[in-house]
Amino acid sequence: MKVLWAPWRLSYVSAPDAKSGCIFCDKPGLTDAAQRRQALVLYSDASVSIMLNRYPYSNAHLMVAPRTHSADLGAMTAEQSGPILEQVSRCVRILDSACSPAGFNIGANLGLAAGAGIADHLHWHVVPRWEGDTNFMPVLGDVKVMPEHLEATYDKLYPMFQENQS
Ligand SMILES: [Zn+2]
Repeated sequence: MKVLWAPWRLSYVSAPDAKSGCIFCDKPGLTDAAQRRQALVLYSDASVSIMLNRYPYSNAHLMVAPRTHSADLGAMTAEQSGPILEQVSRCVRILDSACSPAGFNIGANLGLAAGAGIADHLHWHVVPRWEGDTNFMPVLGDVKVMPEHLEATYDKLYPMFQENQS
């Protein structure tokens, strides 16, 4: 067996700030509408993105993330957090009118120990809830829903998120 000496690979493998493969960095940057739909990106502007969660806790489970790759909520300035809260509140308005939930769970999981699926890029979950939906909602589930179902939800919500899209 030949062993290829490729020392430049080491810097790639060990780069501490390697963010390749981070969905919150990569997906909102897509410009093609079909690719954005496939990636479930509903909205993005210079500071925030909104995506449908591929492994939702409930129907129409959204995620709101800053465009900056950071895990440090404590370091976030009011200037950075303002647009995020603004988009979280917009998600609530849009979901209220799109699917009339009875309530919401909204929050962020900081760190793997707290259940963050992607721990190195801050993101907020906006989970609409309905009375009696607990059977559907796994406590810590990785429940895969059918892609058609996600795409149907995407197509329903997408037009509602077009205002101020950039
Ligand atoms: Zn990232």
